[in-house]
Amino acid sequence: MYKTAPLKFIFIFLMSLLFSKKLFSQRYISSETIQMVQPTPTASPSCINESNAYKKKYSQQSFYIPKKNDPVITLKITIHIFKPISDSGRWQMDNNKLNGTAALSSMMDSITNGHQERYSAKRSATYAKDFNSPHIRDSKIKYEITNVYFYPEPNLYALYNDQALFEYIEKIDPKRIEEGMPLVINGSNGPGHLSSYKGAAAIVTTIGNGDPIFARSHLLHEIGHAFGLGHTYVNTSGGGSDWQNFGGACGSDDYLSDVFPNNNPACQNEGQATFKPTNAPCMSCFESSPDTSNNLMGGQRYNLWMSPLQMGRRIRSVHLNANAGRNLRQFVKDMESDHKNVWTISKSEGWDFDIQLYKDIVVKAGATLTVKCKVAMAIDGKIKLESGAKLIVDGGEITSWCKSGSWEGVQTPAIKKKKKGDKKVAPVYITVINGGAINKAKMQMPITTTK
Ligand SMILES: [Zn+2]
Repeated sequence: MYKTAPLKFIFIFLMSLLFSKKLFSQRYISSETIQMVQPTPTASPSCINESNAYKKKYSQQSFYIPKKNDPVITLKITIHIFKPISDSGRWQMDNNKLNGTAALSSMMDSITNGHQERYSAKRSATYAKDFNSPHIRDSKIKYEITNVYFYPEPNLYALYNDQALFEYIEKIDPKRIEEGMPLVINGSNGPGHLSSYKGAAAIVTTIGNGDPIFARSHLLHEIGHAFGLGHTYVNTSGGGSDWQNFGGACGSDDYLSDVFPNNNPACQNEGQATFKPTNAPCMSCFESSPDTSNNLMGGQRYNLWMSPLQMGRRIRSVHLNANAGRNLRQFVKDMESDHKNVWTISKSEGWDFDIQLYKDIVVKAGATLTVKCKVAMAIDGKIKLESGAKLIVDGGEITSWCKSGSWEGVQTPAIKKKKKGDKKVAPVYITVINGGAINKAKMQMPITTTK
């Protein structure tokens, strides 16, 4: 909420009818004429991910490495359990000590609500023990369970067929598929894996034994895949290896230089790799028993180490729709925008990418932010323009991603009221062109449109 006095605008307000009468009963009422003009309702965005801003900054996992005061982002997860008609096998809707609801709830509790999923252990490894991977404890992402649904369906309980499971859930209630990232558990004994349904990430797994420590690291690992993380070990049976085939070989954008040490003396098993990246200058290698670490994406039981770059990739996954076909950010819990730790734009940038934000934006004096694609703000999020800064919505759209609230709007510098006979032209801060749109904002804004 604003603490400053209401700004006075001398501009004509070009408002969307969508902004509704509610707005006009709020603050920011100007004493000047308000002209209602409906901007083009649908944006015609140019989302090509080719700008320098995208390539050099916003597409980089390193850009998203969490800082101490960053907001905590919550991923919603919805549990779907297929079971036999009787309460037998895993999981049961009774008090069974190993397989009943209390055991399920304690397993899920170990990876949610800021327990093991949020905080990283320090690296410990059997190889390259002095490798310096900076330790960040708080990854700034936590998981939360929205609901647990049981489906007594003997056929689906034993079936290794993701599609059939998702379709069944959707048929019962389509909202269940959307309320959180689906974590589907049945008794098919197929390998636990990252799946997808209608372009969104989902996990399908069987948790077949009563080993809560294994279950915990297994679930954290599978959810790690949903964030776009690959294995630290060699990828011989699917799943993706970060060292091997994510296009993340040594020196490339997504390479995890803080997981795989250069000149690693433990490199001895590369022959196992089905495809070997050009790692020549680095001489790094995948983890291979007995040379293992406690990395979240390794295969060991007590793994709770996430490197800063892995954390960065995790946070990137809730900003960009970057995991083609397995998108995750639509499952983030609604939250208020961070008004203190803002994104500062100090040089002009053109945004030709679709981004979901958790912080306010400040455009510094003299800089221009041009939005050509889609920018979605969190609840009460603000874009603040300093004196002389500009916002151009060029065919793109600025809106809110939250279902339970709108964003605040674009805050422009206070402008002195015009006196009679004053011929000075007031500066233009916000320009909307080429069918661009500003939607779901609370504030009235002095917008100039060009046809
Ligand atoms: Zn895996």
